[in-house]
Amino acid sequence: MFAMMETTRLESLHFAQDPQSGLKAIIAIHNSRLGPALGGCRYLPYPDEQSAIEDVLRLAKGMSYKAALAGLQQGGGKAVIIRPLHVDSRAALFEAFGRFIESLNGHYITAMDSGTSIADMDCIAQYTQHVTSTTAEGDPSPHTAMGVFTGIRATAMARLGGDNLEGLRVAIQGLGHVGYALAEQLHAAGAELLVSDLDGGRVQLAMEQLGAHPVAHEALLTTPCDILAPCALGGVLNAETVGQLRCSAVAGAANNQLASADIADTLQARGILYAPDYVINAGGLIYVALRHKGESLMAITAHLTQISLRLTEIYAHAQADKRSPSRVADALAERLLYGP
Ligand code: NAD
Repeated sequence: MFAMMETTRLESLHFAQDPQSGLKAIIAIHNSRLGPALGGCRYLPYPDEQSAIEDVLRLAKGMSYKAALAGLQQGGGKAVIIRPLHVDSRAALFEAFGRFIESLNGHYITAMDSGTSIADMDCIAQYTQHVTSTTAEGDPSPHTAMGVFTGIRATAMARLGGDNLEGLRVAIQGLGHVGYALAEQLHAAGAELLVSDLDGGRVQLAMEQLGAHPVAHEALLTTPCDILAPCALGGVLNAETVGQLRCSAVAGAANNQLASADIADTLQARGILYAPDYVINAGGLIYVALRHKGESLMAITAHLTQISLRLTEIYAHAQADKRSPSRVADALAERLLYGP
């Protein structure tokens, strides 16, 4: 356990169980140099405790990097609750989790993530104030989309020499909470949309409302376009797909787009500019972090522009050093997290 913590440079790991409600939860605080750790809570049926621990460690580290490059005074952390086969009262389980968070005295702030809902955050909020994405705070997805939109402008500027999106061909994989809102903004800016989603209803809506062109979901990644925006799954950029992409840049919302770090180098070698996912998709985190601190919507929107500035800085370093933007982003984050 300690070896794993050392490898990920994790500050602390916390466990709690509550037999009455069935709660078995782990909270990982990766780095709190810049502020209290903030990160979502997953509620998933892990095959065993070890996989839950590995997941929370990996995700907590990612949150530290994301918060640092988003310019937030916030550290990185994550929580997982091992979903029981049966639960008598989901509300009681999340209330017990709220008490667990409260016992950490504000060192960890939670948020919605895979398997959790706004209603779960409301249950947690009955026992601690260290919770975001409650009904009162609202859905962060539109802000993630806004951040990706400004990031696409910065990417177009760096790769195509201009940030006018008129006529730009953008292929969007996934028209969910983020993907659809992004499509709306791109459409308003005059971009041509090529879209896919497993849910045909979402595609139909985009065709009717945004004049989008449908693409079969197995063909989306290989569709010729200017910018590919993965907004569905992780791991879409892998050894199999990276050679088949027919775009100038990849800039989308999905988390963990690179199946492994070396894929970023292959993209670089192919001349495809890659917007590091945790930089371009930080809009939701910026929203929950600043909303939790009571910042106005205007201040939050202003902070979102830091995403395009940060990407522009990363692209400039990457070009000067002939390195992948992904490697540059990691190095910048590590300087903020561990540097002098
Ligand atoms: P969502 O579940 O609302 O939408 C995902 C969409 O992708 C769904 O409509 C689904 O049908 C579609 N999809 C799934 N597999 C597909 C495939 N193979 N081809 C085409 N479409 C497919 O999720 P979301 O909240 O919009 O998030 C999208 C991505 O962005 C996720 O990777 C998420 O982790 C990441 N992200 C989201 C936020 C946020 O604020 N919601 C913040 C940061 C990162």
